[in-house]
Amino acid sequence: MNEIAKLVAKLRDTFDSGHTRPHAWRKQQLKQMKALLREGEDELARALQEDLGKAPIEAWATELNLVSREIDHMLSKLDSWAKPRRAHVPLVMQPAKARIIPEPLGVVLVIAPWNYPVQLQLLPIAFAIAAGNAVIGKPSELAPATSGAMARLVAKYMDPDAVAIVEGAAEETTTLLAERFDHIFYTGGPNVARIVMEAAAKHLTPVTLELGGKSPAIIDRNVDLDGAARRVVYGKFVNTGQTCVAPDYILVDQSVERPFVDRLVANLKTFYGDDPKASKDYGKIVNDRHFGRLVGLLDAGGYQETVIGGKDKADASARYMPPTILRGVDPNAKVMQEEIFGPILPVIPVPDVDAAISFVNAREKPLSLYVFSKDKSAANKVLRRTSSGSACVNTAIIQLAVPELPFGGVGESGMGAYHGKRGFDTFSHLKSVLDKPTKPDPPLLYPPYKKVRERLLRRVLKARG
Ligand code: NAD
Repeated sequence: MNEIAKLVAKLRDTFDSGHTRPHAWRKQQLKQMKALLREGEDELARALQEDLGKAPIEAWATELNLVSREIDHMLSKLDSWAKPRRAHVPLVMQPAKARIIPEPLGVVLVIAPWNYPVQLQLLPIAFAIAAGNAVIGKPSELAPATSGAMARLVAKYMDPDAVAIVEGAAEETTTLLAERFDHIFYTGGPNVARIVMEAAAKHLTPVTLELGGKSPAIIDRNVDLDGAARRVVYGKFVNTGQTCVAPDYILVDQSVERPFVDRLVANLKTFYGDDPKASKDYGKIVNDRHFGRLVGLLDAGGYQETVIGGKDKADASARYMPPTILRGVDPNAKVMQEEIFGPILPVIPVPDVDAAISFVNAREKPLSLYVFSKDKSAANKVLRRTSSGSACVNTAIIQLAVPELPFGGVGESGMGAYHGKRGFDTFSHLKSVLDKPTKPDPPLLYPPYKKVRERLLRRVLKARG
């Protein structure tokens, strides 16, 4: 038996013993994770700085604190989420009691990506624990310092019989995926998602797939231009554009394109100064491959103007890609064919909101969609006529900090969701239980079915109530 198989077997023994089921254990482990985040803050911030050039305050706000606040929410709600949920019993089936009982799934696997390597690893693990499971986390090898820090901290703070980190790349993940899990929670790109789902199919293991895609931001003509530009710039360039819910491209009403682009540039300068490379608040691209991929998107052309930034200002040795805004972008340009996942923002003018809706609907369903407008009916039209994992009106990316909003994709941007109660349910089986006394027990339902009895039975079973 290889080491990974031994680990899975150990966690399964723990789960089968009932060790992870008591609420007291779950809460104690969640509190331990909070201690890990508090006491390990410096170690994690250093690792995130090394891997991604993240400013410590950004790391705290978008990763550590987000997980910690969700854990507080879990701790306050766990008892009520885990309680049996009553269900209505139709009159004809009474007397009886119907309940839905959440039960843990077993041993679950959480595969995380590199862009928010702490949040996207520890938050699903926290939900798995809250629901009473044993869990293995697999951080991304592309953020190696953070992967190492999490492996050390999880071993130090969490119950080693029930919570573990396995470090490694495709080879280790393939070995993990050969094991039977009771749920696999994967965050990352769609190609590996297909590998994960195929491996899961062998064991009929359910999966949650948190993927990405090209999330549009639609700018209506009736808009607070400066407010919209500031929020788009924040959402796009935080973490150097390496955010799954970042606005990928802009569809702007052509009548306000010029002033909107001017305000994008002005806000960029306010945030990161004239030389973003010197800003301690602007990060770097995760590795050379992704840096080269972004340069390739710019090299492929298909746009008329580089408003700011561009590859001439990039520095491969520092993996520095400047905030870049492109105008006159052909919808068939390479930069419009794949998720950018970096600090390049194409701006595409459209005649009106209807044209923006058609543009979005001609493509895969995005993970998020943002609409900026002072006109409620225009914003509602966009929400009604497009489909996306989540959406915001007049803001961007911060929807995932609202615990009660389930976070997940639709279509090519993923399946399943988490955060808040939905996170608890994702790692639970909702077992339906019907409990009925043996008396009274009228013979109507049972054979032999004579004519009169059959007529009566039909009438009774059709009755509502
Ligand atoms: P990645 O390269 O880190 O891969 C994700 C995970 O898959 C890693 O743990 C990696 O080790 C593993 N992996 C890689 N190759 C594998 C293989 N052949 N077999 C098995 N496992 C393998 O991350 P990525 O794919 O570059 O992530 C970026 C994507 O993730 C973007 O599309 C982004 O939008 C999406 N994303 C989505 C969310 C979300 O919450 N929906 C969050 C962050 C990122």
